[in-house]
Amino acid sequence: MQEQIDPLVRLVHGILDATAPRSLGPFEFQQADASEAELERFLCNEIWYSGRYQVFIRKDVQSGWAMECPCVTREQEDDPQIDPDCEECTGKGHCSMRVTHLSIKREDREPIHDWRDLQIIKSLFCGPESEGIEIYPAESRMVDTANQFHLWVFPDGATIPVGFNDGRLVADSNYGQGKQRPFEIKPEGLIADDDFRRKALTYCESKGMIGSEQIKVLGEPATDAEIRAVYAALPKDELKSAIEHWSKRCNKDDPDEQEVKRRLFLIADINAERMLKKDAENP
Ligand SMILES: [Zn+2]
Repeated sequence: MQEQIDPLVRLVHGILDATAPRSLGPFEFQQADASEAELERFLCNEIWYSGRYQVFIRKDVQSGWAMECPCVTREQEDDPQIDPDCEECTGKGHCSMRVTHLSIKREDREPIHDWRDLQIIKSLFCGPESEGIEIYPAESRMVDTANQFHLWVFPDGATIPVGFNDGRLVADSNYGQGKQRPFEIKPEGLIADDDFRRKALTYCESKGMIGSEQIKVLGEPATDAEIRAVYAALPKDELKSAIEHWSKRCNKDDPDEQEVKRRLFLIADINAERMLKKDAENP
């Protein structure tokens, strides 16, 4: 009886079958062998499933964002040529940006929503450098009928104009008072503990966080050598503004007076070393 149930039905009804490819790893997806009619019924182009997730993919979904139409060509940078007969943009040069809609649910239908897993799914199906959004809409257009999650992914090259812009930062150990969990699949480019501490310390120093504030981020006080390394890496003008910053803050009412003096001493030392080096190079 069960042999006659096609993979899609098995998938949709969640019928377990030892012969079906369900023992796949959490992110090794298998495409469902769905007919045109079935895809139409589910309003999607492709259906994929792994041991943990099901992903329904709708491609080329119109959005309210405009993009330059693919019919636009340029022989010179500032001279765009538009195809006047283009049906996509009707000769305007701009058309609707098409997004990919990923409709995702867990195989067990539980409402667990793990950002890290959804990020992997986004990268698997739409490419590592694509960007997507999850919407927290107005109550008046909210859809909440199942434990299903939706990502709307833009074409490659379309960057969401909010978010962090300081490059990749992925760590797999606890840092300061933060709590991180281990990765199931180790991603590339994990930051080493020492580098993470140096980065965190640089951040603290740039924000003028010292004493107990700094310990909150770092977990333990910075050593003289660490503080020196942060300031020694600064170019001349930034070192000068750091000296100005800490000089201004140097007063007896500051609860962190000793810490402020410590920085001033270390920075002044670095500055003096630089002057000596410069004199030696240009006698
Ligand atoms: Zn066009």
